[in-house]
Amino acid sequence: MKNIIFLGPPGSGKGTIATELSPKLKIKHISTGDLLREVVASGSDLGLEIKSYMDKGDLVPDELVGKMIKEVLVSKEAEKGILLDGFPRTVNQAEMLNTIMAVVKKKIDAVFYLKVDLPVIIKRLSNRVTCKICGKPYHLINLPPKKPGICDRCGGELVRRDDDREETVSKRYETYIAKTEQLINYYKNKNLLIEIDGNQEKEITVKMVLSHIKS
Ligand code: AMP
Repeated sequence: MKNIIFLGPPGSGKGTIATELSPKLKIKHISTGDLLREVVASGSDLGLEIKSYMDKGDLVPDELVGKMIKEVLVSKEAEKGILLDGFPRTVNQAEMLNTIMAVVKKKIDAVFYLKVDLPVIIKRLSNRVTCKICGKPYHLINLPPKKPGICDRCGGELVRRDDDREETVSKRYETYIAKTEQLINYYKNKNLLIEIDGNQEKEITVKMVLSHIKS
């Protein structure tokens, strides 16, 4: 399995698991959230427009995300395989992905659905900090950095994401239920869905995902 999607609500651990697996499997981790945050950080007009959606917990329009993801998927970096984290988020995006994959003569091998209970999500997101430079996520209680405020991997500053505020978290969850949850059936019907209990600790979830990838 080389081309993999992680599906699940915000806080389900998509980014954490993909960050762990990418070096192990030597395939590219692609997070549309991270790509969008890079554009926002550039301070461009497009960045300001994107920020207005993200701050409200809304999805950025499909056309914008589609263009961005296409550039990465056709690049050399994606040749060996991809771990998609946060894309697709709508059925329309899933169809866009099918079209791009057909152009590069590849196919999605598996979709891991990380199923997590809402109280676990809230607890995770309210304690989440992320590296400003490399995007590695930490949990202040369950997965703290070795030195407070500093990324173990690259030494970058750890910050709270603007959209991890309580009111935005509930809007992001509603957006997930309204637009993204339908992808569970979409990929189930294509026989690609593998359901994983994402309530557990990171190490256990990583092991479970790896056992499916290697089987
Ligand atoms: P994430 O880092 O995956 O939690 O994404 C953070 C925010 O970025 C989301 O709440 C959306 O506003 C935006 N975003 C990320 N990925 C997508 C996508 N595939 N489609 C639309 N918006 C996205």
